Amino acid sequence: MAFSPPKTPIQQVEPERDLYVPQPAKVVNVVEQTATEKLFEIQLASGEALGHQPGQFVQVFVPPIGEAPISLASAPNGRTSFALVVRRIGDVTSALHRLEAGATIGIRGPLGHGFDVEELKGHDVLIVGGGIGLVPLRGLIQAVLAEREAFNRVVIFVGFKSPTEILFRDELAQWEARDDVEFHITIDRPHPDWSGHVGVITTLFPEVEFGAARTKAVIVGPPVMYRFVITECRLKGIADENMILSLERRMRCGVGKCGHCQINNRYCCLDGPVFKYSELKFMWEAI
Ligand SMILES: Cc1cc2nc3c(=O)[nH]c(=O)nc-3n(C[C@H](O)[C@H](O)[C@H](O)COP(=O)(O)OP(=O)(O)OC[C@H]3O[C@@H](n4cnc5c(N)ncnc54)[C@H](O)[C@@H]3O)c2cc1C
Repeated sequence: MAFSPPKTPIQQVEPERDLYVPQPAKVVNVVEQTATEKLFEIQLASGEALGHQPGQFVQVFVPPIGEAPISLASAPNGRTSFALVVRRIGDVTSALHRLEAGATIGIRGPLGHGFDVEELKGHDVLIVGGGIGLVPLRGLIQAVLAEREAFNRVVIFVGFKSPTEILFRDELAQWEARDDVEFHITIDRPHPDWSGHVGVITTLFPEVEFGAARTKAVIVGPPVMYRFVITECRLKGIADENMILSLERRMRCGVGKCGHCQINNRYCCLDGPVFKYSELKFMWEAI
């Protein structure tokens, strides 16, 4: 199968915004999610909306420490602010965690190719989010639910290692309460504070019947999850071109110049992070 040519930055960005220069932005609100993750609501100092799609990311500059790529965690939905959920890992993410509402940061983006919400319309949509992989999916789910009637079934599988790692608790409860969403949650191992489903995320698949021909699956999670979830989707008969994945790679520039995030002949920052499995299965470095 031939590779489609890499998409150019011209196709994916608003031409008037300089993607090489961080735009000043304000931290509007900070909400602790877990012991290691915080949600930051951000507003560009210019007052304009970021203009992103779910699944895209920004480079967050925390002065004077440096930059880190972080997924957009909210749908545009007509708001001028946007959400990021950040796990404290190292220098930049720890510096971000020390900030409070009112702090100034820099934002480059939106960057990369996100989820094509239009392509999902008219289909059954299966959304599979493992751990912090739910962060980019939150914006997609918000966008789908904002136009719920445009989609057929909406099935959401989320999995966390333990109850202490559950993100977006209030929102998960809202999705679970809806009768037009089939919501399933699991944690990996038994826990005294958990009475729900236990087992890795693939153990949710036998609970649901799929009309394979009309289902599109969107999958984001830790690297180890992909292989097993793809196998389950294939067993359910979902075609490779109907599996949509978001990859995470070490990135620097975010605009296809430095080559840090190269996967075979593609750049994760530019051609992704969202890819179809039908593209990725020929990229041996991808999964
Ligand atoms: C497209 C994209 C979207 C992302 N979205 C999010 C998000 O929404 N929320 C979030 O919390 N994180 C996200 N990340 C990961 C985030 O970018 C890294 O955690 C961050 O860059 C770490 O920076 P740091 O300066 O805090 O850590 P550093 O001080 O640079 O590193 C600390 C340790 O973490 C390791 N490390 C750093 N980055 C990565 C990485 N990408 N993969 C594996 N190990 C790494 C280093 O090797 C080192 O051991 C995303 C990454 C990508 C590429």
